[in-house]
Amino acid sequence: MNKLVSLAKRRGFIYPSSEIYGGLASCFDYGPLGSEMKKNIKDLWWTSMTRKHRNIVGIDASIMMNPTVWEASGHVSSFNDPMIDDKTTKRRYRADHLIENHIEKLRRDGREDDAHRVSTYYERASETDDPNKTFYDIIIAEEIKAPDTGSSDWTEVRQFNLMFQCNMGALADSSGIVYLRPETAQGIFVNFHNVRESNRMKVPFGIAQIGKAFRNEIVKGNFIFRMVEFEQMEMQYFVKPGTQGESFEAWREERYNWYIEKLGIEREKLHWYKHDKLAHYADLAYDIKFEFPFGIEEIEGIHSRTDFDLKQHQEFSGKNMEYIDQTTKERYIPYVVETSAGCDRLFLALLCDAYTEDVVDGEQRTMLKFSSKIAPVKAAVLPLMKKGEMGAKATQLCDELADNFLVQYDDAGSIGKRYRRQDEIGTPYCFTVDHETLENNTVTVRFRDSAQQERVNISKVKAFLDEQLAK
Ligand code: ATP
Repeated sequence: MNKLVSLAKRRGFIYPSSEIYGGLASCFDYGPLGSEMKKNIKDLWWTSMTRKHRNIVGIDASIMMNPTVWEASGHVSSFNDPMIDDKTTKRRYRADHLIENHIEKLRRDGREDDAHRVSTYYERASETDDPNKTFYDIIIAEEIKAPDTGSSDWTEVRQFNLMFQCNMGALADSSGIVYLRPETAQGIFVNFHNVRESNRMKVPFGIAQIGKAFRNEIVKGNFIFRMVEFEQMEMQYFVKPGTQGESFEAWREERYNWYIEKLGIEREKLHWYKHDKLAHYADLAYDIKFEFPFGIEEIEGIHSRTDFDLKQHQEFSGKNMEYIDQTTKERYIPYVVETSAGCDRLFLALLCDAYTEDVVDGEQRTMLKFSSKIAPVKAAVLPLMKKGEMGAKATQLCDELADNFLVQYDDAGSIGKRYRRQDEIGTPYCFTVDHETLENNTVTVRFRDSAQQERVNISKVKAFLDEQLAK
């Protein structure tokens, strides 16, 4: 991870936020390459989830909403993270995380009976309206040793609400309290009828959104894995009650395949996790997890949210949230299947997946093996010599490509060094303008992964890139 974090900063992917003032915990800034790459991720997701589905449309809702939204959604009363401290090292842990990891470990060790026992206890803990989380205390005290010290010297479990509060308007009293949204989903639920009516949507249909969410996370760390300000890519799919199971399975499959087919992530690095303990709104939940260097962790959740949210909004707003099927005249509150991915976590997964060290031409190199769709820079144009006709031809090629692709022009240093610089930021193709270009109008194209080269006509470079990027 250290190598990755330092490369990310050195090459302009990610910087610590407000670094000159010592930074701010769990806040990061995306640099020139990082912001390009993040945009590529979001564009791919948006295309797959909206344009490729005629019955899914996108919105961009406001971050701040009427505070009653968060009472209706249950976030004011129960968006809590129980936390616990290891008394010896003073390290803080999320109690859920400790227990879930423990259950997984028991399963991996073949101790299915023990896993079942702890998981039943864990489910009871979430069902019980127990502010002190006594069940958690018992599970942790009896079952789990502190990962740092191996000891069982824990503090009590304490509750912590993850929502950020701010004051709107001049008064700093409770009348002006608004929240920074902790999930993008509620912006979709409250717009259910607006979107349905304005776009004549018929169930089943989906609403997609990419946007910032904010959580006052108690355990920080692992670079951009857990941030307090992050971006979600969510889609809520509204279905007829009774059909949610089928829809859930279809989305589970589609979302899993997306990572492999569209992003090129190796299947072996992706894992499913079925939730034993469900959030207050869900009746079924699976996570897609990725093998990060620091462990196997969630990148996306697929949740069957029932009719919980629309029902709650109906109750709290007094507005009817029913859908009327125009053909059968049936009325119902739709059920919701949600796919909820974190853009920043996916960014980190792609960085980890792409990081490669190998030897090329007898030299050690660091490479980011991004798929060409994700790579921030699609191609580099490198004149063998700065001045004269080579420079002019290279500049012209670069300008032509710039209409469609992010291209870098580099004429500094040896050609080998320039290739290494591009390998390190994951540029899939380098076009070199050399002596032969002046004779027959061909350039070399160098492929990042194999370091092999071919010659292509300079007039065919754009078509070549179009073809490669369409794959
Ligand atoms: P975790 O258990 O890791 O906190 P979660 O189950 O609370 O995650 P969800 O509420 O399901 O997460 O949110 C959907 C997605 O949003 C997650 O899969 C993750 O990719 C992303 N996400 C959630 N919290 C954060 C965060 N603090 N920083 C970055 N991404 C996040």
